[in-house]
Amino acid sequence: MNLKNYIRDIQGFPKEGILFKDITPLLNDPIAREYCLEILLSSLNGLKIDKVVGAESRGFFFGMLLADRLNAGFVPVRKPNKLPFKTISRSYNLEYGTDSLEMHVDAIKKGEKVLIHDDVLATGGTARALADLVHELGGEIVQFNFLMELSFLNGREKIKEHSIFTVITY
Ligand code: IMP
Repeated sequence: MNLKNYIRDIQGFPKEGILFKDITPLLNDPIAREYCLEILLSSLNGLKIDKVVGAESRGFFFGMLLADRLNAGFVPVRKPNKLPFKTISRSYNLEYGTDSLEMHVDAIKKGEKVLIHDDVLATGGTARALADLVHELGGEIVQFNFLMELSFLNGREKIKEHSIFTVITY
């Protein structure tokens, strides 16, 4: 099965000049979705995972499926002021300006084994912020996995000390 057939290119979204990779056809197809999930799971080689961290919002879809299959907890990382309990926060650079991500302070315990998941690795700014949040709480990052990597943006440089797995590379 070629999973690229389930990723749709949207020119000019969310703004002009951007070619957006849309994963909704993949979410919409139960066979392709399961196939993709199995690939993500097999890349872990049976390693133990205590927590799966997923980034708002497209990291929640497969992040939760992974947590379920790994019998791990799921940790939502969200944009500012969305999480109701006490949070830690990390800023990261966007093309223009900065944004930040938040995680609940009690989401990860020291020494827990963590898998970080997001849909796309682009410039790596989001991934770096996710890693910093996990480290701040004392979690050990076992792997980053992504549905796709836009390799021409060199995002993996920002998290190069970690194991990185991507299903699809562009
Ligand atoms: P980065 O921080 O530049 O690596 O961007 C990654 C974040 O932006 C991820 O959370 C993605 O969900 C989102 N993103 C960037 N490009 C795309 C895309 O083409 N399709 C879907 N999400 C994207």
